[in-house]
Amino acid sequence: MRDLLMIPGPVDVDAEVLQALSAPVLGHLDAGFIATFGRALKRLREISLAPSAQPFVVSGSGTLAMELAVANLIEPGDRALVVNTGYFSDRMAHILERHGAKVTHVRAPPGGAPDAAQVEAELARGGFKLMTVTHVDTSTAVLAPVESLLKVANKHGVLSVVDGVCATAGEAFHQDAWGADVYLTASQKAVGVPPGLALLTVSPRALDTWRKRKAPVASVYADWAEWLPVMEAYEAGKPSYFATPPTSLICALDVSLGQILAEGLEARFERHRRMARAFRAAWSALGLRLLPTSEALAANTLSAVYYPEGVDASLVGRVKAQGAAIAGGLHPELKTRYFRVGHMNRVTTGDVLVTVGAVERALHSGGYRASASGTAVAAAQAALST
Ligand code: PMP
Repeated sequence: MRDLLMIPGPVDVDAEVLQALSAPVLGHLDAGFIATFGRALKRLREISLAPSAQPFVVSGSGTLAMELAVANLIEPGDRALVVNTGYFSDRMAHILERHGAKVTHVRAPPGGAPDAAQVEAELARGGFKLMTVTHVDTSTAVLAPVESLLKVANKHGVLSVVDGVCATAGEAFHQDAWGADVYLTASQKAVGVPPGLALLTVSPRALDTWRKRKAPVASVYADWAEWLPVMEAYEAGKPSYFATPPTSLICALDVSLGQILAEGLEARFERHRRMARAFRAAWSALGLRLLPTSEALAANTLSAVYYPEGVDASLVGRVKAQGAAIAGGLHPELKTRYFRVGHMNRVTTGDVLVTVGAVERALHSGGYRASASGTAVAAAQAALST
């Protein structure tokens, strides 16, 4: 039986993207590949709405994208402020500390997010070089108020790194207009490509900070000095080599980015909002509570939903048996108390209805009957019809 892949990454990808992966492997010096890589880099810049930024595409996962940002911007002893909304903010802090940063956290209880006033209170103490924000923390489905957070970082002259792994090309983000220094992501979520690529767009100010650093970057593979000439060369239509690029994945990335731009970023953000609203209508009709503590903080790329009384993590397996693969919890404090459903990339109204139906049947088969059969599907359907 074919299950619908509805975990928060990796996600289902389009047939044309898969087709690109099944084409004969190209060498990194092939003229066709050079043109494709150059176009993919330009497209990445467009996806981040960052005409002034330098794109980087490197073989690796989202964690490497985080390290590519931190390793180049942090020198031992620098102070960094982590706007902490969950598991992936903790990971960012871990990477920052490994590269010698002194980290201060601004935290909120799970499901919440620090607001701009709380962050500003910290930044106003002075001495911070860098602020990090997880655009959507995949462990809590919290959408950080990133635009207002970036405003305070810029007011205080602090560099910013935004982890968009669970957001880029799904949640609205305007890198240049909002003044983010690094927007980073990975290929396997709303960008619509299988796992394997770390993607960054870096502002001129961040590159300038990196150029002026005194301490060497503590990783050869993560050093922008190795990658920048490669990215510049391919964008200029010339080959260059530091470490073998994942040619097939880059061809697939180019296809997916082309599709994203053809859909239109605003239309794509709106589609993600619409699907998320339909899921939320269904969860509410089932009497289920979300982790995010307010509608404004609820991500459009995934849902994180508490199990109701009497239901445990075995629900995930029962939903799978009903045809939809979803995920359990991830936040260390709440792991066993909630499930997650990804709704990004090519998510359609059909996917919403199938998934909601599978969750509803799985809840009923497990004895949870807070609503009549079909109530959740009807609520999603109603939300999709408005
Ligand atoms: N940041 C966020 C917000 C994520 O969701 C993830 C992955 N789920 C990562 C970072 C790390 O990415 P990867 O697993 O690709 O290393």
